[in-house]
Amino acid sequence: MTQPLTFPRGGIHLPPHSQESRRAPIVNAAMPSVAVVPMRRRGGSAAVCLVAPGDRVAEGELIGRPPDQSSAPVHASIPGAVVEVREVLLSDGTTGQAVVIELGGTFAQSGRPRPVRDWTHLGPSQILTIVGEAGVALDGHCEPLAVRFATARGRSPQVLLANAVESEPWLAAEFRQLADRPGDVAEGLRIAQAVLGCRRVVLAVTGDAAQAADAVAAAFRASGGTLEVAVFDGRYPQEEETRLAAALLGREVPRGGTALDLGAVVTSVSSFAALRDAVVLGKPCFERIVTVAGPALGAPRNLKVRVGTRAGELVEEAGGLVARPAAVVFGGAMQGHAFPGSADWQEVPVTQEVPAVLLLARGDLARGRRRPCLRCGRCLDACPWGLVPVRLHEIAESGALARASTEGLGECTGCGCCSYACPSRIPLAAGLREARVRSAGGAE
Ligand code: SF4
Ligand code: SF4
Repeated sequence: MTQPLTFPRGGIHLPPHSQESRRAPIVNAAMPSVAVVPMRRRGGSAAVCLVAPGDRVAEGELIGRPPDQSSAPVHASIPGAVVEVREVLLSDGTTGQAVVIELGGTFAQSGRPRPVRDWTHLGPSQILTIVGEAGVALDGHCEPLAVRFATARGRSPQVLLANAVESEPWLAAEFRQLADRPGDVAEGLRIAQAVLGCRRVVLAVTGDAAQAADAVAAAFRASGGTLEVAVFDGRYPQEEETRLAAALLGREVPRGGTALDLGAVVTSVSSFAALRDAVVLGKPCFERIVTVAGPALGAPRNLKVRVGTRAGELVEEAGGLVARPAAVVFGGAMQGHAFPGSADWQEVPVTQEVPAVLLLARGDLARGRRRPCLRCGRCLDACPWGLVPVRLHEIAESGALARASTEGLGECTGCGCCSYACPSRIPLAAGLREARVRSAGGAE
């Protein structure tokens, strides 16, 4: 049997908690009676709000216009009346403006037959315009897919890499897209290939998703193309785009570079499904698949959720809590934002960047007091980018940010492998993140 592909150094194996969540098929979450739709996506600029209290909005109507290319437009996820525009707590722990919509009126899009667009007659720029206006972004990021693709087109990429690798515990949204929507994912990939002109299309999965991937490959073949399925090791952070491209192509990305420097465009499977919905069905991006899981919950669920649904409602829908959570994470256990269980996390709205809401117990959290460094070198061995986390951290703590930058502070992705590996519980990744923010003058 061929060995799974993997990146050359570092990384960690996390506890395998995903089997149960992967078994739960996607089901539609109940329509929220109130949607709290943020104007800013994680890491992006805030959109200019186009509505005010008292306005009526239709499902899918544009309610936020992005101020620049770093962000995607925002659409109403439910029809109804705007009752408030106010500051709310967001899933990354910051606050930001959100439009509060009370459900009412009729659905302009859901439950109605949709005309299917024949995209084969459209040119790349027409497709990119549709995808941009629909607000499709890279999964987990604010960057619009249309911007990423337009940049990539200018560099004639060779490989289109669809990413379904999920090495963080409990995550299952990408796997479920493959298992539940193989034809739609295949069509999204065909459209992307037509836009980018890539010779090679590769679907990246871990071994347990190979069967689901074969169904996507069969659908892709039926439409006249060839899709390779590549099996990767589940070592974290295998899904990071430069680790994925390096493992597939057997070459390292230049320091500070991207997968595109190796000729690869990497995007999550969820983004291809959303791209397909935008181009074929004319559907804006106001839903996403969210895995609700963790030991403080009864059984995990994969829910198709309207953007702006509050986390407390999702947890109720998933059967409610069986224990008080010690922490609630929006996103993956390593890269997501963790709220203490005592915080007001129930009111936090789910957005396109939130693949999971994890209800964790005490035993899932790193515990113990910080102790002095043992000079054991485990953080060096764990860093997938070959950095020296302990030294970077010491330099950053001393305040010498310029020196930290020359030693690679800007190349730290915040993956958290160093903190996880450290026996002295030194919060290396958090310290480096803070240093990057200070170095960038307050905004990362
Ligand atoms: S958080 Fe930064 S320093 Fe630590 S392992 Fe990840 S990339 Fe390396
Ligand atoms: S892993 Fe922790 S204790 Fe070991 S060298 Fe790195 S910072 Fe020091």
